[in-house]
Amino acid sequence: MSESHTAFDIVVVGGGAAGIASAAALRRARPALRIAIVEPNEQHYYQPGWTLVGGGAMRAQQTATPEAEVIPDGCTWLKDRVTAFDPDQDRVTLERGGTLSYRYLVVAAGIQIDWQRIDGLEQALGNNGVTSNYRFDLAPYTWECVQQFSGGRALFTQPAMPIKCAGAPQKILYLAADHWRRKGVSADIEFLNQGGAMFGVPLFAKALDGVMRDYGANASFGHDLVAVDGPARVATFRRVEDGAEVTRPFDLLHVCPPQSAPDFIKHSPLANEAGWLEVDPASMRHPRYGNVFALGDCTNTPNAKTAAAVRRQFPVLVRNLCAAMDGTTPAAAYDGYGGCPLTTSRGKVMLAEFRYNGEVVPSFPFDPRKPRAAYWWLKRSFFPWLYWNVLLRGRDWHWPEPKPRQFS
Ligand code: FAD
Repeated sequence: MSESHTAFDIVVVGGGAAGIASAAALRRARPALRIAIVEPNEQHYYQPGWTLVGGGAMRAQQTATPEAEVIPDGCTWLKDRVTAFDPDQDRVTLERGGTLSYRYLVVAAGIQIDWQRIDGLEQALGNNGVTSNYRFDLAPYTWECVQQFSGGRALFTQPAMPIKCAGAPQKILYLAADHWRRKGVSADIEFLNQGGAMFGVPLFAKALDGVMRDYGANASFGHDLVAVDGPARVATFRRVEDGAEVTRPFDLLHVCPPQSAPDFIKHSPLANEAGWLEVDPASMRHPRYGNVFALGDCTNTPNAKTAAAVRRQFPVLVRNLCAAMDGTTPAAAYDGYGGCPLTTSRGKVMLAEFRYNGEVVPSFPFDPRKPRAAYWWLKRSFFPWLYWNVLLRGRDWHWPEPKPRQFS
């Protein structure tokens, strides 16, 4: 195949959760379609597992597989990176040179992690108790740090939203705190959060305040990590309230890095003002380019950026893209569903499920604020199975449609 210019019916940008699920479902819906997936990485990761790896409840290798094994049969994998979009010419440019043209474009390029925005962080990671579950290779180091911690000060940070899995910065705090409690290790635990609450949905934020209290952990809101000195074991934060810089010594520092829309999207005609790939929040279709669709962490839709959201977005996108190909009106609508299994201890999970406008939509007829062992089983065993065997195969899981519920 010539790299200079190749034409496909559909080009999918990104072979992560959203790109693979969409490509597989499109192939199933229309087997004759010529679909290309552009993905630079050799490995595909089950990122929700990294919290469990950091907490010692899963092995890192269980969260990775060769990308070649998840590319749907019949799709063409281009091991390359898209550098630019030209939606007026229905083309994308590739890093290694050449362009691809398409009839329809699906953008699923994920969110960008901006490690470099924190002074000294990249050099500090992986030594002196500085770690992050947001990197595959560092999640095992988190567990090493948790096990080696013999008392002292443990800091966990959360940057400004949006980030992928807004619960992940605190999930690891709870798993670590639970481990230390079981081992009788005395820890001074602080959660330094750029935002103003434990969670974006007030019902769960209040319940999580209780979990923090139970561990004797302190939450410091309005604190944004700006610098890390690994060898000196000191972290510097900017206080949102007055811009003042405050420092904290630490024995363990778990960092959730700042995140943003990928640069190649930010600088493209497909972006909204904030740099995210713009789509209608219900149809997942671009408002100005009718043959462009997008889903997953790279879009402007105001849902929680989770694989749980992808699971509900891709069937909508595929139905609407097929309708557009057939010249009919795309009628399927995404309701903003997102889910966050909050690992409040090893063995228990608070299952937060919600949709647009923070409406709470539990899948089960129980109070979702109560951490349960059954939800730990979902997180530890069922969701990984669902990811590898259902989501990545583009199968629509027909779970009973959750209804919004009010709780006092
Ligand atoms: P990704 O899966 O990140 O895939 C994006 C792909 O695009 C990548 O493979 C990347 O290489 C590729 N790409 C990037 N740039 C380009 C380019 N220029 N050209 C071509 N390809 C490109 N979700 C949950 O539902 N539950 C959880 O409990 C949960 N916990 C999490 C814990 C952690 C620590 C992390 C990091 C994430 C967690 N998530 C969780 C979030 C979940 O993993 C993401 O929301 C999900 O992977 C989003 O899918 P995506 O396809 O949009 O992005």
